[in-house]
Amino acid sequence: MRPLQMVDTKTQYLKIKSEVDAAVIAVMESSMFIGGKVVNDFAENLAKYHGSRHCIPCANGTDALQIAMMALGLQPGDEVITPSFTYIATVEVAALLNIKPVFVEVNPKTFCIDPEAIEKAITPKTKAIIPVHLYGHAADMEKIMAIAAKHNLPVIEDNAQAIGNDYTFSDGTVKKTGSIGQIGCTSFYPSKNLGAFGDGGAMFTDDDELAAKLRMIASHGQSKRYYHDVVGCNSRLDAMQAAILDIKLKHLDEYIAARRKAADFYDQAFAENKFITIPFRDGNNKHVFHQYTLTLNGVDRDGLNQYLADQGVPSMIYYPVPAHRQKMFDAFGGSDFNLPVTDWLTERVISLPIHTELDEEQQTFIVNKVLEYINR
Ligand SMILES: *Cc1c(COP(=O)(O)O)cnc(C)c1O
Repeated sequence: MRPLQMVDTKTQYLKIKSEVDAAVIAVMESSMFIGGKVVNDFAENLAKYHGSRHCIPCANGTDALQIAMMALGLQPGDEVITPSFTYIATVEVAALLNIKPVFVEVNPKTFCIDPEAIEKAITPKTKAIIPVHLYGHAADMEKIMAIAAKHNLPVIEDNAQAIGNDYTFSDGTVKKTGSIGQIGCTSFYPSKNLGAFGDGGAMFTDDDELAAKLRMIASHGQSKRYYHDVVGCNSRLDAMQAAILDIKLKHLDEYIAARRKAADFYDQAFAENKFITIPFRDGNNKHVFHQYTLTLNGVDRDGLNQYLADQGVPSMIYYPVPAHRQKMFDAFGGSDFNLPVTDWLTERVISLPIHTELDEEQQTFIVNKVLEYINR
């Protein structure tokens, strides 16, 4: 059996090695390392795939979120509504800009922000809603967009884990997650569904004015070279990453299909087990399984995590501490938030290896080890 890993980017690379190697060498020979045609072509191809008018590449997903908040003109003291059950980047950048993250609950089935909790958390200081499409499942965008419209608030989608997910509205309209809110943000961190060979990120919008602002802020606030209109930052996707990502973009749908197939296999193995709740798939979106995350009922989760490690099966807890309980947010009154669903999930979730290269022999081994512990 091939060794088990949470992600297997090496095997994935070997399948497209000749194409990737040639593209990287071409960038080196061109000496166009920053900006230029390779980066622009990738941004254009990704915008097309995404169904967004504009794709603005940047250095990583965290920057994408920060630049999005800056472009929307959020000011110190403003509030943004976000889930606490997420990766820290989503909320850290708000705090960095002295914007207060107002943490709300998630739906325990989808792991994504609860629209009703959003509406209850809106105050006159609220300036944006930031749903996260966690693990690759879409947040309830139809309801979120309706609440946002009613209160005239922009929506920034954290789509770092769900690139390629198709969301279907009740009128039949289909849109990619990350193309629904005013701004969508994504990450090309190597383990993400569209992963670079280093860092990378992008922002998406249909709004021409907002696109210009995002582009300007990502580039030292420049409207044209050496004319700096606003305070910005330096956040670029380099040409080598763009060249690699452009190749991998052509395989993205196939990568998603492989992840969904692996998820189907796990689902079948665990569906009938009363100690395990398999990931919920709402019919309104196509889960892209960045993570395959079980919710355990009456099982010593950390015991299972350790048992699997001892048996050579990697597993991960995403995330062991919810954002509102991180020390980082003490100054923002993080622990004042009462989020029992978030706390409940934090103690019960466990993620199993899922990636594009898992085979049935590996999955059978993983399933057997999980069941061995649970059915002891
Ligand atoms: C990975 C990730 C980010 C940040 O992306 P980086 O490229 O690592 O900065 C933000 N939000 C979520 C939900 C993520 O999973």
